[in-house]
Amino acid sequence: MSYVKGLICRECGKEYPKAPIHVCEYCFGPLEVTYEYDEINKVISRDIIKSRPPNIWRYAELLPLDTPPTVGKHVGFTPLVRSDNLARVLGVREIYIKNDAVCFPTLSFKDRVVSVALSKTKEFGYKTVACASTGNLANAVASLSASGRLESYLFIPYDLEQSKIIGTTVYGANLIGINGSYDDVNRLCSEVAGRFGWAFVNINIRPYYAEGSKTFGFEIMEQLGWRVPKHIVVPMASGSLITKIWKAINEFDKLGLIDITETKIYGAQAAGCSPITTAVKNGWEIFKPVKPNTIAKSLAIGNPADGYYAMRVMIESGGFGEDVTDEEVVHGMKLLAETEGIFTETAGGVTMAVTTKLIKNGIIPRDESIVVSITGNGLKTQEPLIGKVSNPHIIGAKLEEFEELYNRINHRQKEGGK
Ligand SMILES: *Cc1c(COP(=O)(O)O)cnc(C)c1O
Ligand SMILES: [Zn+2]
Repeated sequence: MSYVKGLICRECGKEYPKAPIHVCEYCFGPLEVTYEYDEINKVISRDIIKSRPPNIWRYAELLPLDTPPTVGKHVGFTPLVRSDNLARVLGVREIYIKNDAVCFPTLSFKDRVVSVALSKTKEFGYKTVACASTGNLANAVASLSASGRLESYLFIPYDLEQSKIIGTTVYGANLIGINGSYDDVNRLCSEVAGRFGWAFVNINIRPYYAEGSKTFGFEIMEQLGWRVPKHIVVPMASGSLITKIWKAINEFDKLGLIDITETKIYGAQAAGCSPITTAVKNGWEIFKPVKPNTIAKSLAIGNPADGYYAMRVMIESGGFGEDVTDEEVVHGMKLLAETEGIFTETAGGVTMAVTTKLIKNGIIPRDESIVVSITGNGLKTQEPLIGKVSNPHIIGAKLEEFEELYNRINHRQKEGGK
């Protein structure tokens, strides 16, 4: 049973039937999935959702499948962690971490979008899937196409972190490193999609794929007790996740699943790749593409496909955009690890550091609820931390050596307070 009405052009509003298409043939605007909300209203409630298994499919009526999911049946419902240690350090009243660093199966929020995309791809009858990726997407497509019995071709900039590469090839996927930036990879993939007729999850299947991101927002609202926080901070690469969190809030509102809807959404980028936040901060109508140079490789998209719509979300919701240096990104990663025991990747460091900056600058008030979107796992991006975190103390297997070390550590702690 499906509640999908069809596809609609975000620019001119022309409607299309459900098909593996992604651009409007009249104005070249991007297409988006629309639903029969009146019908959904008759069959969904808080209690019905609560009675279902803890994964993304508990929101099935608001996802674009016609048949039950065949890929990623256990994905989603990651913890929303009330973070009082972090709150104390930041001097705020109420802050939560939505923790997709532990998303199943590949430790990033991309598992959500890919589960929806590959299930839809199978409905369409494709045998081969592909993607243009900054790393996490390749990991998710490789893993979920292995369990979903699909062949996969994954295109990345060649110089990604070691764990993102091994975390793709281990599944037996075909990984292609392109000598160029993500934007070069994406351009090539559009040509390959045309020539080979494969399902590129974030190109020709993009309208369906992107809907999976809504579940990140649905879960936040349900886990907060069917309410929205006053402020949500979201990392941006192509700018899709931020627009889908906004769509999720508007859908829950339309269906009467939440009471208050006032929430401000803030986009986070690295200073070395900040086309969207730069445009928002300067009040520009459109963003200017950039050439990325940052340790936050998973966010390094210089010409973001949904950048314009991401800007609109920040402006319409009354939020803002902010960016941080690579040094601040590392501080953000360490802050979250040391306060809440959560090891996030560079993208999470961006989000954490942007949150800190927005609070310090008085943009996010200290006495209102805040949710920080942590989208990936730190074990995948260890390189930038080498030399920035302490090394182990190496000693011989002798009690005296440990006693001597222990005294030295304690002495240092008393002296310097660290
Ligand atoms: C892809 C990605 C994002 C951003 O995704 P968009 O929807 O393209 O903006 C954020 N965080 C991580 C870790 C990612 O891999
Ligand atoms: Zn159009």
